[in-house]
Amino acid sequence: MDTCDNRTRTFYIETFGCQMNVHDSEKVAGLLLAQGYDAAASSEEADLVVLNTCAIRDKAEQKVFSRLGHFKADALAGKKTVAVLGCMAQLEGEKIFAQAPYVHLVAGSASYRKLPSLLVQLETGNQRVTGLEYDDQAFETEFTRRNNPFRAYLTIIEGCDKACAYCVVPFTRGPERSRTNASILAEARRLVAEGYTEIQLLGQNVNSYRDPSPHRMSFAELLAAVAEIPGLRRVRFTTSHPRDFTREIVDAIDSHPTLCNHVHLPVQSGSNQVLARMAREYTREEYLEKIALIRSARRAISLTTDIIVGFPGETEADFEETLTLLDTTQYDGMFSFTYSPRPNTPALRLDDQVPEEEKRRRIIALQAWQREIQLARNQKLVGKQFELLVEGENRKRGQYTGRTTNNRVVNFASAEEKLGSYVPIRVTGAGPHSLVGERLAMSVASQRSPGTERGE
Ligand code: SF4
Repeated sequence: MDTCDNRTRTFYIETFGCQMNVHDSEKVAGLLLAQGYDAAASSEEADLVVLNTCAIRDKAEQKVFSRLGHFKADALAGKKTVAVLGCMAQLEGEKIFAQAPYVHLVAGSASYRKLPSLLVQLETGNQRVTGLEYDDQAFETEFTRRNNPFRAYLTIIEGCDKACAYCVVPFTRGPERSRTNASILAEARRLVAEGYTEIQLLGQNVNSYRDPSPHRMSFAELLAAVAEIPGLRRVRFTTSHPRDFTREIVDAIDSHPTLCNHVHLPVQSGSNQVLARMAREYTREEYLEKIALIRSARRAISLTTDIIVGFPGETEADFEETLTLLDTTQYDGMFSFTYSPRPNTPALRLDDQVPEEEKRRRIIALQAWQREIQLARNQKLVGKQFELLVEGENRKRGQYTGRTTNNRVVNFASAEEKLGSYVPIRVTGAGPHSLVGERLAMSVASQRSPGTERGE
């Protein structure tokens, strides 16, 4: 896009929150490039600054307002256009203008495709514009500019039809909309042709996938179909809802080595009383049945989860049930949060708020408990061999980082590795959050068989 001084306008995107947002930012970057913008190296240099926001916790919103303050002077002086996109934009809408009157554009995560027309409205004299409607066409991603050269995110379902009492997502991302299997498979094949070897299927609840085409492909069938694309070495998927998790998904992982043997299955609490107040739609016992399904697989599937502590009404006994669930389930990783009240959510109406100090005490205890479990599980892997996708490097130190198919991070020393390559290692040490390994010589087997894992 040429301005009146004939200079190409530039943009810079800052992303807050989850992988869905990271991928949305890739789509927005692609859209802006297609509109003739150039990417700027920093927010200081950019004509258009886009904050792609998260609303899952109050703290995330405060961070965005504090970041917006950095651009206030330039925005008021007419040197910068400031746009707020994403979940917080959808949730707060025009209220953002009240708190940060120098913001020019507010658009929710379901309307980012309207960005070019919203920018035109600004250029033609509008002071402030909004895009807050849900867009059923949100999936066409032909312009996406991906940041990672070997792992690609691919959205299969947007939105959420559940109604967990603490969660803003149904308000910010709208109802569930699944892509057709044909559109997903075509994009996956395109990605492989471009050189990607790992695809991560994304959705708020990937396993609630409902193919809108006459074929009605199930999520497990879709996983298998993606995994069978020649040239693809790893397929991941996140996040799964326990209620919709089926044996067919486990069977697909068992029969397709390309499907990574890792499942992220958020439990949120180990107490039935809390799960009911959260409206999670399963009991502890039903959740454990899903875990038993996963543990019955032929491949060793690693398990991670999300937990919220201090949900309204959570007693000490409820909290202890969460600790015993960790013992029973033996997760390989956990994301934990203290409950944070969010606008519009049913949990706001619940009494018995847990004091902040008590929430902090519980989360510290929970993390210490899980840390021990992870350390013990990781120590059992010392001496085992894995295939790693090399993802990061510290050349000065001769250190590289890779990930196993079951999502464990391994650090290893090597003179020279190519990022994005697959290498065999043997585990030589273990901490609670990562492993240390030694690089093995490339075997014929590891070159041939994607996803090979002889570790567990
Ligand atoms: S399943 Fe529950 S926690 Fe997950 S996005 Fe939907 S409402 Fe939020």
